[in-house]
Amino acid sequence: MPELRKDPIVGRWVIIATERAKRTVMPKLEPRTFPSGTLCPFCEGQEDKTPHEILAYRDRHSQPDKPGWRVRVVPNKFPALQIEGNLNKRGEGIYDKMNGIGAHEVIIECPFHEVSMTGLTEDNIREVLWAYRDRLVDLKKDQRLVYGMVFKNVGALAGASLEHTHSQLIVTPIVPINVSEEMQGAADFFNYRGRCIYCDMIHQELATEKRIVLDTPNFVAFCPFASRFPFETWIVPKLHNSHYENIQKMEIDELGTVLKTVLLKLETALDKPPYNYIIHTAPFDTQSLPHYHWHMEIIPRLTRVAGFEWGTGFYINPVPPEQAAEFLRETEVDPSAVPPRP
Ligand SMILES: [Zn+2]
Ligand SMILES: [Zn+2]
Ligand SMILES: [Zn+2]
Repeated sequence: MPELRKDPIVGRWVIIATERAKRTVMPKLEPRTFPSGTLCPFCEGQEDKTPHEILAYRDRHSQPDKPGWRVRVVPNKFPALQIEGNLNKRGEGIYDKMNGIGAHEVIIECPFHEVSMTGLTEDNIREVLWAYRDRLVDLKKDQRLVYGMVFKNVGALAGASLEHTHSQLIVTPIVPINVSEEMQGAADFFNYRGRCIYCDMIHQELATEKRIVLDTPNFVAFCPFASRFPFETWIVPKLHNSHYENIQKMEIDELGTVLKTVLLKLETALDKPPYNYIIHTAPFDTQSLPHYHWHMEIIPRLTRVAGFEWGTGFYINPVPPEQAAEFLRETEVDPSAVPPRP
């Protein structure tokens, strides 16, 4: 059973994950590659190599855990948290801990062996974005769980251990500290100005244009003013909404194209860098919040976090976001293009 432990000084929770030590491939190694695609556990036809599927968008008449799917969600074989059991919150002197209850799922984004999300059609990406929503809607019914974090690791430097394009969802029984800090800052701004800071940010970024990467009817992608990393890019919906799972169909349709376009720009401009993306959304147990606004953060892993960053929480970013945004803006890509499939 994994364990959640709280740092008594800053209140940060840590997952002590015993199961993950059993992974045959440690994340620091190159992701496992499957040149032929035949032995990859995420490829169609290898469904018996993964735990039983939780959700799949399938062709009619196809069977669970059999071929015929387009997007498939399975439990992580080496979960950081486990779904069975109770939290059993307890203390140990000055320390707080609880059982590592939660969910750790893998969203396999396509049945064929493709290593980049940008190799998928926009429709395929839309279904991936729906799968995120469907899983969050389902998991938030579990009273023990309070937060769902969707993320993607691409490349060994970004923590990927398998190359077949996939994303992950970790659902935790506590609100992660990065999210509670964002929510606190946003709430302070709201209490002072009476407006959502993300909505204000969209407004100002669109007015000044210098950090804009992409502007579409319902989304804006920009390099944030205080970017921690070179080419850090956020995708923010123009429609105020605190919870990703409340996203509307027309937004998902557009986000499929926006996400693919931004990722293509990063891949083209930076020669396929390792990267992470995450979705920041409000905790499950909150109603629609006027001060918080879901968003996606994309972080190319071009620099390493070193001693100064660990020691201070400061980041040294060698590329001004205005310069990064201009470069990405001018990088021309075609989101309708897909590589030929055999
Ligand atoms: Zn594969
Ligand atoms: Zn807002
Ligand atoms: Zn955020």
